Amino acid sequence: MRIVFVGPAGAGKGTQAKRLVEYLRIPHLSTGDMLRQARAEHSDLGRQAASHMDAGGLVPDPLVIRMVAERMDRDDCAAGCLLDGFPRTLEQARRLDQYLHDRGIRVDAALELRVDDGELFRRLMERHRPDDTAEVIRERMAVYQAQTRPLLDYYDRQGLLTSVAGVGSPDEVFARIREAVEGRRAASRDGASGVAPAT
Ligand code: AMP
Repeated sequence: MRIVFVGPAGAGKGTQAKRLVEYLRIPHLSTGDMLRQARAEHSDLGRQAASHMDAGGLVPDPLVIRMVAERMDRDDCAAGCLLDGFPRTLEQARRLDQYLHDRGIRVDAALELRVDDGELFRRLMERHRPDDTAEVIRERMAVYQAQTRPLLDYYDRQGLLTSVAGVGSPDEVFARIREAVEGRRAASRDGASGVAPAT
């Protein structure tokens, strides 16, 4: 399965993504982790990404798209992968669709992990990462609203979106995610075999 995992920073996406890739046995492609690694290695990409990341903004689309395409070309992604933190813009989503379409495959499911803004801000302030100053947090939330939220409509229009409430214990949240993924998995199986889903 190819799954897109969408949600603002602080929604608990990282924790849930780890559990989901163990459950589905597919690679976890976190663009945030990949970019942090590029920075640690002082690669060209890392240097180009740094200032955008520090300001709470997005790394330019062409850089991120190339990074993800190179990663998805590797053999371990043949049976699917979990895209965590990508796409983050409509341009990224369209380019991802094009990439998959050229290979005769597609996104099977988009999962939204939803937490309201007040709760997010509180969680992020508690997290104390060096980039988590109040100003950077506000900027990241604004960027999410402006650039990433439109993706929810984009995937909803394709019938691929399931929204999951990100509140409760990690086990409770994961149970919702697992249910959503199993529903989508059944739907793609039926679609692939030409059997109409039950109404
Ligand atoms: P994350 O760990 O997903 O919150 O990502 C950390 C930072 O990396 C973000 O604030 C962005 O600056 C950058 N980043 C991660 N994924 C993307 C993406 N898909 N597009 C652009 N920038 C990204």
